[in-house]
Amino acid sequence: MAEDCIFCKIANHEIPSNFVYEDDQVVAFKDLNPVAPVHVLIVPKDHKLNLSQYSQEDEQLLGHILYAAAHIARELGLEENGYRVVTNAGPDAGQSVMHTHFHLLGGRKLSFDKQ
Ligand code: 5GP
Ligand code: ZN
Repeated sequence: MAEDCIFCKIANHEIPSNFVYEDDQVVAFKDLNPVAPVHVLIVPKDHKLNLSQYSQEDEQLLGHILYAAAHIARELGLEENGYRVVTNAGPDAGQSVMHTHFHLLGGRKLSFDKQ
């Protein structure tokens, strides 16, 4: 756990959040400022800055995060209409919380900024 990391504190249940899923490796909770009707953050419990800090040893965890995303999407009824999973790594992507997290977005048509 990293000092003064908001997502470490949430994952450690030190700050109450709207959890939708938890297992031994990840937690998932509702985003504070949702940009879609469903906006869930999937957060590995182990603190790392972003995707850039993982190595081949973390393949299982990285696969597990996507598995959890698909599981949560199914549980929340997103499968039929679809959903998006995205992670922001670094300044050009607009990463604002410095603990790895994957956004699960759904419940409306989603545009995509490819620029
Ligand atoms: P980023 O911009 O780093 O990809 O995404 C950070 C996300 O975390 C944003 O969508 C923001 O609304 C969300 N967020 C920031 N602080 C908190 C918090 O304390 N609780 C929750 N539930 N979401 C947060
Ligand atoms: Zn952290």
